[in-house]
Amino acid sequence: MRIVVIGGGQAAASAIRRLRQLGYDGDILLVSREPFPPYERPPLSKSHLAIGAANEPKMIFPEDFWEENAVDLRLSEEVQSIDVETNSVLVGTKKISFDHLILATGASPRKFPDQMTKGLNGTHQLRNVADANRLRSQLNPGRSLVLVGGGFIGMELAATARQLGLTVTVIERDERILNRVASTQLSNIIRQWHLENDVTLIEGQETTGFLGTKNVTGVQLSNGAEVCADLVVLGIGVIPDCALANAAGLQVDNGVLVDDYGSTNRSGIWAAGDCASFSFEGRMVRLENVQNAIDQAENVAENILGANKKYTPTPTFWSNQYDHIVQIVGLYQPGMITVCRQSSGRLSFWHYSYNNLKAVEVIDDPKTFAIARRLLTDGRSPAPELVADDDRILKEFLRSA
Ligand code: NAP
Repeated sequence: MRIVVIGGGQAAASAIRRLRQLGYDGDILLVSREPFPPYERPPLSKSHLAIGAANEPKMIFPEDFWEENAVDLRLSEEVQSIDVETNSVLVGTKKISFDHLILATGASPRKFPDQMTKGLNGTHQLRNVADANRLRSQLNPGRSLVLVGGGFIGMELAATARQLGLTVTVIERDERILNRVASTQLSNIIRQWHLENDVTLIEGQETTGFLGTKNVTGVQLSNGAEVCADLVVLGIGVIPDCALANAAGLQVDNGVLVDDYGSTNRSGIWAAGDCASFSFEGRMVRLENVQNAIDQAENVAENILGANKKYTPTPTFWSNQYDHIVQIVGLYQPGMITVCRQSSGRLSFWHYSYNNLKAVEVIDDPKTFAIARRLLTDGRSPAPELVADDDRILKEFLRSA
């Protein structure tokens, strides 16, 4: 049997590790455009940008993992097409057949149209280590950085760049930063950290143009204002990489559509990670986080080997900014009832829909996070008024909720 994995990120790595852990001893072929084996992406907006950090990324597995696990690693290579009739992929000029195919193609940064960015030097994006190395060479103290997009890329980069001594402005088109991914309560706190660190935040303004002739010198906003910049980073979200799936006739709709088991509409072809769209709590989602890449890919590996196991994730996310850690479990949705808990000076926000706990956001408090994650994983819902009682010991809920 041969399993082909397309993509060189966390999902690809996790699927392969699980296949071997479970004793699969057939062929595994990994095709990745990246020149490195799968590496950790979370450091790219943080420690990788520090002065003196290595150019090479931190690998997910030790160097000898790939040989020891007999993985045919095709780096800096690309799958041109998938043939669903013959169950084969075209890599370069070679047709390679598969018994199972895992699409772990990830996502690519959303871009502004070329006529808007005008090919100006100094306009960056951040997705892979090459992007991060390019950006790092430009992050010199005293320079002014404009971050377009107040998502996690924008906010993490703002913190990193301030620590490196740049002047930083974040421009978010929504009425508030982190609108897509965090509650108002959490974004208010994160906003405060950035204001205290002299980041300028401009919310509710669309970026309408880029200034400069050869090098970028600033951006123009929808209210007509101009913001000067020596460099600009776009962190305006990602688009799932579905081109191969689409061309092969697989079902695609803001991601490669998969069922509860991770299978696409073609038997033997699976998808996991940022590129996969699946049903969660009654709606189609793509979970753009490392934990999902690991869990969903492992679930696919198990199902390839016959487990027939539904994927039931507990969405989990974290972000480091300045000396804070934010951890989020579950999916927050506007309109949920929020309970704020403050215990021993640590804040957390507990979000409910019709008295059912749906998401918890925790600041600098890994213990509370671990309990919240257990509660959500087990489908338990401590009553909001009990959670709001700061004197209650959270662990009680694990026993009684
Ligand atoms: P994101 O979370 O989708 O945030 C992008 C933000 O940019 C959104 O708030 C979006 O607003 C805004 N935006 C879009 N177009 C804009 C425009 N024209 N002008 C100003 N703002 C605009 O994506 P991201 O921050 O770019 O991050 C990319 C990916 O990396 C995501 O998958 C993210 O989860 C991942 N990431 C993860 C971590 C972590 O795990 N800690 C850290 C960094 C990045 P709208 O909602 O209105 O579109």
